[in-house]
Amino acid sequence: MTEMANKVALVTGAASGIGRASAIALAREGASVCASDINAQGGQETAQAIIDAGGEAIFVPCDVTRADDVRAMVSATVERFGRLDAAVNNAGIAGSFEQRLHEADDNLFDLVLAINLKGVWHCMKAELEQMLPAGRGAIVNIASVAGLIGAPKAAAYTASKHAVVGLTRSAALDYAKRGIRINAICPAYTDTAMVQAGIALNPALAMIMERAIPMGRLGTPAEIAQAVVWLCSDASSFVTGHPLVLDGGLVAT
Ligand code: NAP
Repeated sequence: MTEMANKVALVTGAASGIGRASAIALAREGASVCASDINAQGGQETAQAIIDAGGEAIFVPCDVTRADDVRAMVSATVERFGRLDAAVNNAGIAGSFEQRLHEADDNLFDLVLAINLKGVWHCMKAELEQMLPAGRGAIVNIASVAGLIGAPKAAAYTASKHAVVGLTRSAALDYAKRGIRINAICPAYTDTAMVQAGIALNPALAMIMERAIPMGRLGTPAEIAQAVVWLCSDASSFVTGHPLVLDGGLVAT
């Protein structure tokens, strides 16, 4: 419990999956954590799990599509814990993985971009406002392998995640000399509610995903969380603007 000792971290989308695992892993390494989500029940459960394990956490509700919500979430973190050292912009949705571009609804495109891309934009702005005067900070945006390569029948999601990788690279350059590192994580299929919802709609997806990954299995949220902790901590002090791939070999194919 040393990587994040005396540090303060926030995680969006912390009610579930990769966000919950990241919040718990950051707390296990000593961080005080703001677990934020649009889902109040799940977010409170994550914060409570951290407290029950002897850590420090608060839950703050936040819809990342709303700039006011995001600013209030960052302010609540700083009011409670006094500073912000690390932020994990993780909240996201899949939209649909079942429609080709011409079949997909414009409203679905708008929603996917509003959460996956503009949500990250809102979060980075509010987080940077806190980190710039302090002259230190680490931001980790959860993108996807779909931020680096195409994914069939998922044009909106793929566009949103490519944009998150671009946002990450550009912002990393803007703040490289200001003590703030900004990186992305690009997971392949990871066993979370998002993936299980897709499998429930189309059971064949389970085998398709496993076959696509050279290691022959899905990732786990805990495996992604290990990388989140590393990028949030000083152990990665010379890493910025990097899209870190965790994919069981998928992008190597
Ligand atoms: P998840 O289990 O569905 O968790 C996502 C969380 O974000 C949920 O609690 C969700 O709440 C919340 N959320 C949705 N819209 C929000 C909003 N507007 N504001 C705040 N929170 C919101 O999904 P996950 O698989 O852990 O995904 C986490 C991130 O990893 C996403 O950005 C996803 O694109 C990325 N990712 C996942 C995989 C994968 O295979 N699982 C692979 C690559 C990248 P509700 O449940 O109430 O919607």
